[in-house]
Amino acid sequence: MAEHTHPPLFLTNTLTRKKEEFIPLAPPHVGLYVCGPTVYSDVHLGNVRTFLSFDTLFRWLTYLGYKVRYVRNITDVGHLVGDVDEGEDKIAKRARLEQLEPMEVVQKYTNGFHDVMRTFNILPPSIEPTATAHLIEQIAMVERIIAKGFAYEANGSVYFDVPAYAQHHAYGELSGRRIDELVANTRDTEGQDEKRSPLDFALWKRADKNHLMHWPSPWGEGFPGWHLECSVMSTKYLGRTFDIHGGGMDLKFPHHECEIAQSVAADGEAPVRYWVHGNMLTVNGRKMAKSEGNGFTPEELITGDHKLLDRGYSPMTVRFFMLQSHYASTLDFSNEALQAAERGLQKLMAAWDTLERLKPAPPAGEAYDVAALEKACVAAMNDDINTPVMIAALFDGVRAINSANDGRAAFSADDLARLRTLFQAMVFDVLGLKREAEKQGDDLSHGLMNVVLGLRADAKAKKDFAASDLIRDRLAALGITVKDGKEGTTWERN
Ligand code: AMP
Ligand code: ZN
Repeated sequence: MAEHTHPPLFLTNTLTRKKEEFIPLAPPHVGLYVCGPTVYSDVHLGNVRTFLSFDTLFRWLTYLGYKVRYVRNITDVGHLVGDVDEGEDKIAKRARLEQLEPMEVVQKYTNGFHDVMRTFNILPPSIEPTATAHLIEQIAMVERIIAKGFAYEANGSVYFDVPAYAQHHAYGELSGRRIDELVANTRDTEGQDEKRSPLDFALWKRADKNHLMHWPSPWGEGFPGWHLECSVMSTKYLGRTFDIHGGGMDLKFPHHECEIAQSVAADGEAPVRYWVHGNMLTVNGRKMAKSEGNGFTPEELITGDHKLLDRGYSPMTVRFFMLQSHYASTLDFSNEALQAAERGLQKLMAAWDTLERLKPAPPAGEAYDVAALEKACVAAMNDDINTPVMIAALFDGVRAINSANDGRAAFSADDLARLRTLFQAMVFDVLGLKREAEKQGDDLSHGLMNVVLGLRADAKAKKDFAASDLIRDRLAALGITVKDGKEGTTWERN
């Protein structure tokens, strides 16, 4: 990171509830772990928001020159329907309903998840480990925790002993929960009779006869508890203590609190230096969730085929909509906000086209301060990844570009080059936006339309109006409007 001359990055650390300067353990390397999806159903747009928030952090760290090892797991076992230690395994349940092997369910929804990530231009992580591929390490971690006296076996299951741990360590420090409050709020759940305290959570669960997913262990056939995989996989690939752990706000407790307890109990070290949590996508103020029935899939969003949607929106419109709010704020879904984002994005992309065409000219009055714009963009991102402020700064640049286009201002050759580099970096690399060929079609449609319109022009030249009208009408039937104007023939998809 030789040319790391940028001012420092600040991140809000959930652990301290403060904006802190980010100081990596071993620069230029940065370790980033994010809890990935449980692959038992299609992801909804809320899930997308969380992965997009951390994609932006990943992109920014990369922009700053860090060599980021980004680990995002796939949960393919152990996540129970009740989210705590009860109910069927989510994947096993889906396998039963769809009459598939559990691993077919895993593959199907992993593939779907990857498609969605690509659709929204969310970059793949450096490593994408799965829970079922790390059972040996998970069993070893349970053994270490037992050996330290912070877990016990009961009837083929192993539970983490929260009261024993809390005597020595700060259980609840991440989520701000207090032991006495937790006790007051516990419900009677499955396996409760095996637990010494209702606060204890499963590290390993005995598989009963009908359980589809199980592995041999020192405690008999069973499967790992949900929190264990993240403790194991994050530290395996990033070290016992690593830089940043991310995930949605809803995972703070119990998932992340338990991750800390497991690592500290097993190895005596706090695993994470900066805990970063993304906030929820809501609909009318309620968290978007499968169980609420207010979650739509990316496909429904694009087609508009859902009761919450007035019409379809493109993936980049949605990306831009999400980036216009800070990752730590809730974001409420609305058609109006998406339509505003669509207009904003069109303006930004049009300005980029203009910027590419602009010719340098001697500025008439005071030159536009490109360096100040660059500073504003970097400062916004370094201030806890403040994408809305960065976008607002970019729009200051958009106004300058449009003025130059109208001849009311001008850029020197140097400024023009610098502005292009800045826009390229911020719009495409950091915000991860990309051009969408909606109305104008992609390169292939352009090529094909040039052939078709060329044939039509030939027909007209030969006064074969029947043929030229036929081509126009056939195209109209496909939803393509052809317009003959002074500057030639243009086309547009409706
Ligand atoms: P899951 O597959 O349910 O484990 O969730 C995967 C990720 O999506 C987790 O990091 C959750 O915090 C996140 N998530 C779930 N619902 C929402 C939502 N409505 N808004 C933002 N993130 C969400
Ligand atoms: Zn996790």
